[in-house]
Amino acid sequence: MAEAQAFVTLATTDAYSMGCIVVGKSLRRHETSRKLVVMVSPSVSRAARLALEDVFDEVVVVDVLDSRDKAHLTLLRRPELGVTFTKLHCWTLTQYSKCVFLDADTLVLCNVDELFEYEELSAAPDPGWPDCFNSGVFVFRPSLNTHNQILEHAAQYGSFDGGDQGVLNTFFSDWAVKDIRKHLPFVYNLTAGAVYTYLPAFQQYGHHAKIVHFLGGTKPWHLSYDPQAANESSFRHSSDNFEQFINLWWVEYYSKRHLDVKQDDKNEDHP
Ligand code: UDP
Ligand code: MN
Repeated sequence: MAEAQAFVTLATTDAYSMGCIVVGKSLRRHETSRKLVVMVSPSVSRAARLALEDVFDEVVVVDVLDSRDKAHLTLLRRPELGVTFTKLHCWTLTQYSKCVFLDADTLVLCNVDELFEYEELSAAPDPGWPDCFNSGVFVFRPSLNTHNQILEHAAQYGSFDGGDQGVLNTFFSDWAVKDIRKHLPFVYNLTAGAVYTYLPAFQQYGHHAKIVHFLGGTKPWHLSYDPQAANESSFRHSSDNFEQFINLWWVEYYSKRHLDVKQDDKNEDHP
């Protein structure tokens, strides 16, 4: 039985692969001891894949058209679930016993390896409807059996929000009430929206943030980066807005230091 554990992320476009670079680099910066895996669809360019290979232990190409069984085919007739379908592939990574999925639009702020102490399916509440979990950060156990069950479920019931979060919340439907140990603290999936809707809480607890999630239509890679502004001390010390995280995202994107520390390369670097 597989013992290895991994962080997993996903990109179906070159833009999202920029996000994956930051996910991977920020995990390495904080010295994770787990493997890093990125799933990419064939639409991701060769150049983007090569860049991902510098950061991740495994770049897994997930080709939706290769799928043959009934649930897959039924899903393929639901084009609105295309990206969702790709994300659900994370359950097929059975070379790992347990994984943590991170959306490509997340940024890791400290070592979060303790997430592997949680069981499937652990996730943080969604700020819009806290009885639903947000599927940007979740702990799961790869299993072909579970994968098929979720696909069957998706094919039959679709997704109430058009994405993976709807599918996963109706599949793991007892998350809200069954076991509080599967509720990740909100600091593992801190979203900008929550900062603006409950600013005092952000001011009180924001410095405990562990993973920031740039949920919504505007992603860091859509925004311009002004290194000058990022250096101004008033900006750096501002704790009442989310912009500091956008700048941190860009700093991580351009950082070079942690490119060469993939586990496998370590021994070669230090004979
Ligand atoms: N994703 C992708 N390509 C897309 C849309 C989404 O690869 O065109 C992946 C990516 O990993 C992304 C995740 O699916 O982080 C969920 O989408 P997104 O983060 O945009 O949704 P949100 O968190 O804003 O609801
Ligand atoms: Mn997201």
